[in-house]
Amino acid sequence: MRVDFLTIFPEMFWPALNSGVIGRAVDSGLLDVRVHQLRDYTADKHRKVDDKPYGGGPGMVFRPEPVVIAVEAVRAPGGRVLVMSPQGRPLNDVLARELALESQLVIIAGRYEGYDERIITLTGAEEVSIGDFVLSGGELAALVVVDAAARFLPGVLGSDESALADSFGAGLLEGPQYTRPEVFRGIRVPEVLLSGDHEHVRQWRLEQARLRTLERRRDLLNGGLTAGNDGKE
Ligand code: SAM
Repeated sequence: MRVDFLTIFPEMFWPALNSGVIGRAVDSGLLDVRVHQLRDYTADKHRKVDDKPYGGGPGMVFRPEPVVIAVEAVRAPGGRVLVMSPQGRPLNDVLARELALESQLVIIAGRYEGYDERIITLTGAEEVSIGDFVLSGGELAALVVVDAAARFLPGVLGSDESALADSFGAGLLEGPQYTRPEVFRGIRVPEVLLSGDHEHVRQWRLEQARLRTLERRRDLLNGGLTAGNDGKE
């Protein structure tokens, strides 16, 4: 999958893109990432991407010209354009899987008070939110979207890191996990995990996952995270 980020802070991206699972995906070419400076798509000598909002009010907004021109320059045929926004479709496991099927994502990271609405109209960009809070910019949100989606690209997770075993993979939260030592500050690892009985361990994990989901996210047990209930209701 190819990902093109459009931003005024390109330097925020590479530390995250060079690390861990995503770093390996980039190194192996499973993820072809390009980070574009939006100011490179301005025509004035000050490389200005923002201006005052019509009608007054605090702050500045992204001007339409550089953003629309940048999208047109980097979008390949069939590319899907996203713009990060607290007003957008909430990111969840369903959306992450859906995005992983795309050949290209063009992701606009906003700043200031947001962006001129014509950017959405002209590019067909879909607004995506990473939660009900307001960040100072869309860079971290854009990285969250790509991190969540890239885990579903074939080959990105190693054989012992399965997206299906993770929370939401089977519609449940993952249960508790333990590693050495067997006893730490008086707390023992559950006996079943030391038993070597794989079927028993599997059943215990499933039961723990159900219990945890019931306690923390009962909505998931009622089909809360399905394609039909992804925040678009
Ligand atoms: N005035 C905007 C509003 O009330 O909807 C908020 C602008 S915010 C300060 C600046 C940028 O940060 C946004 O354009 C967006 O790109 C990004 N951003 C902020 N919160 C976000 C969230 N929850 N999810 C995704 N992007 C977010």
